[in-house]
Amino acid sequence: MERAFQSWFLKHTDEQLSNLVQATKVMLGKTYHDNQIPRLDRITDELNEIRPDYRIMLLKVDGTVVGDSKLTPSEILHVENHAQRSEIQQATKQGSGKSQRFNKAMDDTLIFYAEAFQDENFNGVIRVSTSTENMTSALWALRSLLALIFLAASVLLAVLMVMSQRSLNQHIAQEREVLEERVAERTREVELLHRLANMLAACNTMTEAQQVVGDIVPRLLGDINGAIALIRTSRNQLEIKLDWGGTWPGEKTYSPEECWALRKGKFHLANDDHTTLPCKHMSTVGGDQTLCIPLIAHGNTIGILHLYLKDIELCHDKQQVAFTIGEHLGLALANLNLQDKLREQAIRDPLTGLYNRRFLEESLEHEIMRAQRRKQCLSILMLDVDHFKRFNDTFGHDAGDYVLKSLGSLLTEGTRGEDVVCRVGGEELAIVLPETGPEGAATLAAKLCETVREMHLNFHAQSLGQLTVSIGISTYPHQGDKGDILLKAADVALYEAKESGRDRFCQSNEVFEPMLANTKSLVDKIMDNAIDTDPT
Ligand code: GH3
Ligand code: MG
Ligand code: MG
Repeated sequence: MERAFQSWFLKHTDEQLSNLVQATKVMLGKTYHDNQIPRLDRITDELNEIRPDYRIMLLKVDGTVVGDSKLTPSEILHVENHAQRSEIQQATKQGSGKSQRFNKAMDDTLIFYAEAFQDENFNGVIRVSTSTENMTSALWALRSLLALIFLAASVLLAVLMVMSQRSLNQHIAQEREVLEERVAERTREVELLHRLANMLAACNTMTEAQQVVGDIVPRLLGDINGAIALIRTSRNQLEIKLDWGGTWPGEKTYSPEECWALRKGKFHLANDDHTTLPCKHMSTVGGDQTLCIPLIAHGNTIGILHLYLKDIELCHDKQQVAFTIGEHLGLALANLNLQDKLREQAIRDPLTGLYNRRFLEESLEHEIMRAQRRKQCLSILMLDVDHFKRFNDTFGHDAGDYVLKSLGSLLTEGTRGEDVVCRVGGEELAIVLPETGPEGAATLAAKLCETVREMHLNFHAQSLGQLTVSIGISTYPHQGDKGDILLKAADVALYEAKESGRDRFCQSNEVFEPMLANTKSLVDKIMDNAIDTDPT
């Protein structure tokens, strides 16, 4: 920097000195009088370029000084010959010359510039000089300025650095806070999703799943009304199976064509910034936002997760959470559906939809224990269709199936909800009647015989004639305290009903032998306690 300044200064000074020489030449040309060399100390005032530190000297070719801007003529006479000065030598030889020397008297380094000068009046050299003091002081000033600038820049830089560091730290702290909040939120979501999956896997029924979903999903998605619709086995209808966050405002059942998500095979956000296109099953909510997400399990769409967003903006992250919930629910609900189906298959008779023999035996043991605990009676009706073989032979097997189905419905309708109606096998049916003594069972049996007798069935526009049933009755604790004993006793009574002419009921007259001694008091106790419920 300093070097550059020095060289710039020297170059500038050279130019100045050269200009001054030219100006002096012109001035000299104008001021000659009678071949007398003008006094430089007088004419320099008229030179525009002259500065107080500039000195102009006029020399003869032999080095004799004949003019000096700083000296009077008498003083000039004492000035030594300058022929040996290098700038003078250069000027006399080459036309111009320059040099730089330390001057002891002035205690300063001087810069000299000399140029040969010849006209009709004079032949010699003009030399101008100046001190480098200016340069040194300018250099010092520059150094001080630079130092000051450096200091100011350093201070400014330091302040800027501190400020930027502070704002950077602030920014980092804010970012970290946001990041920590996000991590905490994600951790919470992952934990809740994990729980949702675990709890759903542990559910045995839709009701349990409803509880789990109602508890966990609002914690994940916030205050949003949601519902799950499952496709029926027939695949022609969807049914809302569970909801949360309030009563579901959309349709409770709808056809697959009414949901855009099902038609697209992809989620559908209605009434967002890009589209309106609401699903038909959500027409009741008008222009509010809704989101439908297909639930996929084992490659099949099994239903839809519906969210009624109203005016809540679901951010991208929450949408992803909703999709993940959909994935968990799809699989879990498909499993529950499958479980339900398997359970139904395991306990139901496929033709009549009644419970099967396995369920009868299990529930009978269960009901007997309950009756024992509550000191109440329990009765069993064993029914058999009369001459069903003949019926089959006359009207065909399909008509026989139709009769069995109709009979199943009739028995279900003619009994209470807690009664267990089963198809034991073939055309044999059984009904377990909790809290029912012999009288109540007899009343119901009589009523059933009558209802069946009065039943008019048509199959393929053909009347199937009259149908009758025979019924055997056994009761706990009168005939026994075990399911198989009670079933056997009812069976024996049924055989008696058949023997004695069919279309009637018979009550078992078996006595509970092993407990004969205590039975009387037990029966009495039960009879005192129990209300002999009339199941009709
Ligand atoms: P009874 O009055 O003595 O009971 O005479 P029944 O003809 O009803 O008795 P049987 O045991 O001789 O015949 C039972 C018939 O029930 C034989 C069979 O053809 C018919 N059956 C059993 N299961 C079914 C079924 O699932 N569908 C139809 N259509 N018939 C059945
Ligand atoms: Mg029969
Ligand atoms: Mg039979």
